[in-house]
Amino acid sequence: MTPLPKKKHAKSRTKIRQAALKYKMPHLVKCSNCSQLKFTHQVCTKCGYYKGVKQQIKIKESKK
Ligand SMILES: [Zn+2]
Repeated sequence: MTPLPKKKHAKSRTKIRQAALKYKMPHLVKCSNCSQLKFTHQVCTKCGYYKGVKQQIKIKESKK
């Protein structure tokens, strides 16, 4: 006989759990160059620096 769940797992239980996952905060760290919050293992969107030295991307000037 195959293992079966002891109690009924309602669809709403699953949906509540999935909804909670959606609102988890992204893991952010401070940039070593400009100390702005940035995603880990990604180039800083403010200054374009990665690991303190390499400039990987060109930052577009924001228009007012
Ligand atoms: Zn930066």
